[in-house]
Amino acid sequence: MPVAVKTQKEIELMREAGKRLHEVHLVMRDLIKPGISTAEIDACGERTIRQLGGIPGFKNYEGFPAAICISVNDEVVHGIPDPSRILKEGDIVSLDAGLIWNGYHADAARTWGVGRVSDEAKRLMEVTEESFFEGIRHAVSHGHLYDISRAIGEYASSRGYGVVEDLAGHGIGTHLHEPPVIPNYSHKGRGMLLLAGMTFAIEPMINAGTGEVTWSDDGWTVRTKDGSLSAHYENTILITDGEAELLT
Ligand code: MG
Repeated sequence: MPVAVKTQKEIELMREAGKRLHEVHLVMRDLIKPGISTAEIDACGERTIRQLGGIPGFKNYEGFPAAICISVNDEVVHGIPDPSRILKEGDIVSLDAGLIWNGYHADAARTWGVGRVSDEAKRLMEVTEESFFEGIRHAVSHGHLYDISRAIGEYASSRGYGVVEDLAGHGIGTHLHEPPVIPNYSHKGRGMLLLAGMTFAIEPMINAGTGEVTWSDDGWTVRTKDGSLSAHYENTILITDGEAELLT
């Protein structure tokens, strides 16, 4: 499957998907407080997606049982919402959500602190978000894919964090996961040529310790191997002739 260059009409649909998903994240952000369960956040996220006319992009995707992936503390990604999983003061929580609008996907993740969090946790969340913005400075027409990867990885690792290498960003459009695979670390070669109209989900996953991860017995939840905190920040972006456009 070649990397698709979206038409103007497709780009419009992706903007609509992205705008709605951004809205969903704002609604979920306002719920984050000590005492709420991850299942309540998921239910609200799914309700908001549907109220906005979208379809939850993750629900039943490869069998995932919920609309929102909710990963707490040492969980990196793909945490399954659970009524008995109650957020506590000082936790950090990553919310990863997908929304389909007229057949087009948007994908975005945010990590939030629950109540007051440690300076260490705050810094991890900041560096993760900053690494995304370092990466997309290179997301320009006629740039090369791995310049994005290198910028993300070097930014985070030079600040002493572990970059998760077992998971990556991806192309996105009529499918949630389209080519290319977009690593978050320095990669041999330059990678493919970027062209205006390509749409990508860029998503650094950054650990306070090493970048190594393990898969839990539930088949979904990915955790840091050393038990350190992990943060995730993701947007769906559009390559243009100028700066990348954030769709989410
Ligand atoms: Mg993604």
